[in-house]
Amino acid sequence: MEPDGYGWEVERRKLVWLLEMEKAIRTPAVNQAFLDVPRHAFVPPDIQDRAYVNSALPIGAGQTISQPLMVAVMTELLDPSPDMTVLEIGTGSGYQAAILSRLVKTVISVERLPELNQRAEGIFRRLGYDNIRCVVGDGTRGWPAEAPYDGIIVTAGAPAVPESLKGQLVEGGRLVIPVGDQGYQQLLRLRRQGDTYPEEKHGGCIFVRLIGEEGWSLE
Ligand code: SAH
Repeated sequence: MEPDGYGWEVERRKLVWLLEMEKAIRTPAVNQAFLDVPRHAFVPPDIQDRAYVNSALPIGAGQTISQPLMVAVMTELLDPSPDMTVLEIGTGSGYQAAILSRLVKTVISVERLPELNQRAEGIFRRLGYDNIRCVVGDGTRGWPAEAPYDGIIVTAGAPAVPESLKGQLVEGGRLVIPVGDQGYQQLLRLRRQGDTYPEEKHGGCIFVRLIGEEGWSLE
């Protein structure tokens, strides 16, 4: 990883400006997190020059680092604050977890592929992001050991909202998740109100599949 020199910083500022113009970044705290986290550190070396383009990029194992605009929208929908504990399903590159780690107390991030889990852990260690706990498992079942969570964010497309995740929210807790078929999903935000989970739709998106017991089956 190269030092975070002048070039990267200018590129990053331009991207943040674009995300503000698009109304994806809406709050000063999220703005600052995007300025602080070096996205190029999460992108494979051979395509690092595209790290600050507003698009998803391949990270190996058939997976992607999400589009910055989508990371911004989902982060704002969680309504992060410094005392929150957040569960992320789908660590992938680690970039979304890194952004959240600047905004909340603790991030627990679940990834089903051990090689991506290890890759992300290495990046967090190098950056000194020590409030992210990376675990390997089927995130469609959530992560009961540390539940309940103030917020849950799913960064892979689900066929339906996994029941296990709803049950791991605190009262008033938010769940942000793309739900739909394999080619196109709606971004949903649910909020726990007792035993009900009223939901809002926040537009179309395209994510890789959420694979697991309460997601798509692997075939
Ligand atoms: N948040 C990531 C985007 C990751 S892409 C980022 O910022 O880069 C989605 C990730 O979800 C992939 O790495 C995929 O392996 C993972 N995934 C798919 N199904 C999963 C499951 N049931 N539990 C945990 N991770 C899962």
